[in-house]
Amino acid sequence: MHKAPQTYKEYHGQIDEALHDQQLRKTLDKYAVTYRENRAKVMRDIDEKGLIHAIAEFKDEAAAHMDELYEQFKREAEKRGVHVHLAKDAAEANQIISDIGKKYNVKRIVKSKSMTAEETQLNHKLEADGFIVDESDLGEYIIQLRHETPSHMVMPAIHLSRYQVADDFSKVTKVKQDPDIDRLVKVARVQLRRKFIQADMGISGCNFAIAENGAVTTVTNEGNARMTETMPRVHTVLVGLDKLVRSIDDAMIALQILPRNGTAQRLTSYVSWMCGAGPCASAPEGRKIMHVVFLDNGRREIAKDPLFHQIFRCVRCGACTNVCPVFRLIGGHKMGYIYIGAIGLILTYFYHGKDKAKVLCQNCVGCEACKNVCSGGIDLPRLNREIRSRLVSDKDDKNAMGSLMNAVMTNRKMFHTLLKFASKAQRPFTGGTQFQRHLPMMFMKHHDFKALPAVADKAFRDVFAQYKPKVLNPVMRVAIFAGCAQDFIYPEHLIAACKVLEAKKVAVDFPMEQTCCGLPLDMMGQRKGVQKVAIQNIKAFANGNYDYIVCLCASCCSTLKKHYAEFLESNGGISEAAVKAFSEKVVDFSTLCREKLGMTADDFTKIDEKVTFHASCHQCRALEAAQHSRDLIAAAADYVPCFEEEVCCGFGGTYSVKFPEISAELLRKKLKNVADTNATRIVMDCPGCVMQIKGGVEKNHMGIRVSHLAELLAERVKR
Ligand code: SF4
Repeated sequence: MHKAPQTYKEYHGQIDEALHDQQLRKTLDKYAVTYRENRAKVMRDIDEKGLIHAIAEFKDEAAAHMDELYEQFKREAEKRGVHVHLAKDAAEANQIISDIGKKYNVKRIVKSKSMTAEETQLNHKLEADGFIVDESDLGEYIIQLRHETPSHMVMPAIHLSRYQVADDFSKVTKVKQDPDIDRLVKVARVQLRRKFIQADMGISGCNFAIAENGAVTTVTNEGNARMTETMPRVHTVLVGLDKLVRSIDDAMIALQILPRNGTAQRLTSYVSWMCGAGPCASAPEGRKIMHVVFLDNGRREIAKDPLFHQIFRCVRCGACTNVCPVFRLIGGHKMGYIYIGAIGLILTYFYHGKDKAKVLCQNCVGCEACKNVCSGGIDLPRLNREIRSRLVSDKDDKNAMGSLMNAVMTNRKMFHTLLKFASKAQRPFTGGTQFQRHLPMMFMKHHDFKALPAVADKAFRDVFAQYKPKVLNPVMRVAIFAGCAQDFIYPEHLIAACKVLEAKKVAVDFPMEQTCCGLPLDMMGQRKGVQKVAIQNIKAFANGNYDYIVCLCASCCSTLKKHYAEFLESNGGISEAAVKAFSEKVVDFSTLCREKLGMTADDFTKIDEKVTFHASCHQCRALEAAQHSRDLIAAAADYVPCFEEEVCCGFGGTYSVKFPEISAELLRKKLKNVADTNATRIVMDCPGCVMQIKGGVEKNHMGIRVSHLAELLAERVKR
């Protein structure tokens, strides 16, 4: 079994191994691209958002009535000849299943894919108790032969090539096998058919346990689950309490999304509904012996949690993994313990303990791609942030870097004084350029995949008076929220914005008491620090009577607009109304230009320059504003779309410091896609992405201009 890393050093070693596995990289990369294209096609014929909303609703309702639905299921199933058990934890569930085997004199067991059985590590227990256990799902069968664990919830052997599988099958059959997929499937079929015929008991998982009639449902593509459920004389189902739903109608709603999200198919090949112990020729009395074992393992407690109950909306489609840029690089064995991917990081914390989760759950770049596709609309990034915050609150978790950042960033004057000091102290290292060119190796190690930016000579706050738009009879009053990166590293972005706004007769203000948005602290799990800076910012903008608070950093903007209410919901330091009033006024620069100021091609003198675009994660997913930027680029220049425009560049704030090897690979892909456009400039809406991409372009001498959208617009706006 994969070992959950306990230290960053250990984890970096595991990541390094995965990054150097060319076969893994090729397989996952190919899958990521085809999955995204095919998913988009099959989603076109349904109301995706409506269905996700409906799933969230009935799953929330089921979680809120978990005990009641369990009792109803038990009554209904028992009426139909099924034995129903409830296990408080993994050990008890395994013991119950082992006892069922012993009671019915079982020798051989076939299993179909069940992540719940992985959660309880059922095979170890059954094998230790003398049973012969054979996995029957093709992927599970392959990884059982290799003594591995699943690397994906839906496709457990996705990390393997057909050549590796041919080698494994050659060993088991003692005949050299051809690496042709159809032939390999036939080999597996011959092997598995024997096992089905010999088996005394089948163990399956369950996608939905239906309370109204005591039925269990499995959704598969191979039909092996159906063989497991029907052929042996005993059938045992292991199912988490979270799989309870009220009715068949509810399950039918989820079945419209599950295959589309899981494998980008409209339908899976098999949906099996087992309602009661049916006829069975191999059973002594001609009727199946059927047991259903429900697993609690903390689920009843989580169902009462006001925030985390939403994890039970999960239908295990695996989409959050399919779109995760980190999974795409390192695979499931390095991005989870037993449950993998975005939901896996959260489930690891609850089902397998914080010691297994504490390092793993840091490996989220925060791109929100998972939230964007989740079948149950689970706010996965938020839940992961909350877990990081809980881990930091634990007294035994040492986080020296986080504590230091917290001390500095929550004291605005100290923080800004340090940044101003840095702008002077860096001179020997910058050689008068915008980059740190001569840093000692201790700072560069692992981070030299990009040129690091210099702190600006003068912060925006120190030159604002000079660039403040001079506007008579303004059409609106706007305040700029700068964020640390633009205030101190890229003031030119904000100066450019002032020029654009002046051209549109907008009065601009810059409240000096504003400070960091809090996102870096949140990434470090420093929730108290986040609350402190959030309150400071809300107060800084409270008395200005502004129409909008404009933000040129997509990440800061989504933090201010979408997350302040969440950060401050349990903090008595400020009223809910004040938080709401603040967040409602926050708007990103492209939305301000397109929607609020109505800027079109008429506002610009268009040039021929080929300009491509990087859609920053927070801009395209959290703010859903990327199209505004595309429209504005096209209005001012010759816009050239970039392949995977909305895929993360690898910055992720403090993520690129914690996981530079992953950040470097994501940047490498981004730069290749940019180069393929033949554009002479790339534009984006986030200073973090500018830092990453500009640093990469500089390091690789690519000769492409890297600009914030505001800089392009300021050059072309008609005055
Ligand atoms: S968390 Fe959402 S996207 Fe991920 S497996 Fe569960 S339902 Fe699918």
